Amino acid sequence: MRKNLVVAIDGYSSCGKSTLAKALAKKLGFIYIDSGAMYRAVTLYFLRNKVDVTNEDAVKDALQHIELNFHSRDYESHILLNGEEVSEEIRQMPVSELVSEISAIKLVRKDMVKQQQRMGKSKNIVMDGRDIGTAVFEDAQVKFFMTADPKIRAERRHKELISKGDDKTTLEEVFENLAHRDYADTTRKESPLTRADDAIILDNTNLTQAEQLQFAVEKVNPFLESQAQISIF
Ligand code: C5P
Repeated sequence: MRKNLVVAIDGYSSCGKSTLAKALAKKLGFIYIDSGAMYRAVTLYFLRNKVDVTNEDAVKDALQHIELNFHSRDYESHILLNGEEVSEEIRQMPVSELVSEISAIKLVRKDMVKQQQRMGKSKNIVMDGRDIGTAVFEDAQVKFFMTADPKIRAERRHKELISKGDDKTTLEEVFENLAHRDYADTTRKESPLTRADDAIILDNTNLTQAEQLQFAVEKVNPFLESQAQISIF
């Protein structure tokens, strides 16, 4: 049985998974890992290097040339692709448009899952993504499955893009992108997005960030208490 605590947060695109995951990690002193950033960084590498995704050898070769690292500043996770900070670029539309295709590739998933499992081997972590509770950490002690009204999700992501200086992408384009990714993520062959049987559903359409955090903390607290007892006795 694992001694470290793993909180898995899965759900549809732009549901606020990473906002909750960051807040929860900060509150509990856990490490936050944004698994989506890893798929996005791989996608950026594939785009820049025009990797032929239909060629298995080319994909294998590309993966061998990708090194991903996180560095954390006040719980904002920053991802480095071969030493280069790419946190901003991976959130832009060219990556968003391709990431679900790249993350459906079996070789890519195998590589990412292996790295994610290594990161969650001994420390208390919160990881968000699409397959965390179903594939990466089936034995996570606490699993959340997040959902929210698609229109609200598109509005939130659109605002975020504007705040980062993208005033070209329209709300409709964002809505279409989310719908496309949700469809691709839930219907792909390799570990599709689905709710784990033991995941707690969290619909945040009408919840504030503080309310979501409180809800999540209440679910994790009992496990923290029993972890503390185990380390005392
Ligand atoms: O979480 P985020 O929206 O940044 O993830 C980007 C994309 O990466 C998702 O739409 C999905 O295709 C892929 N992803 C995945 N498995 C994960 C995390 C993300 O397939 N664990």
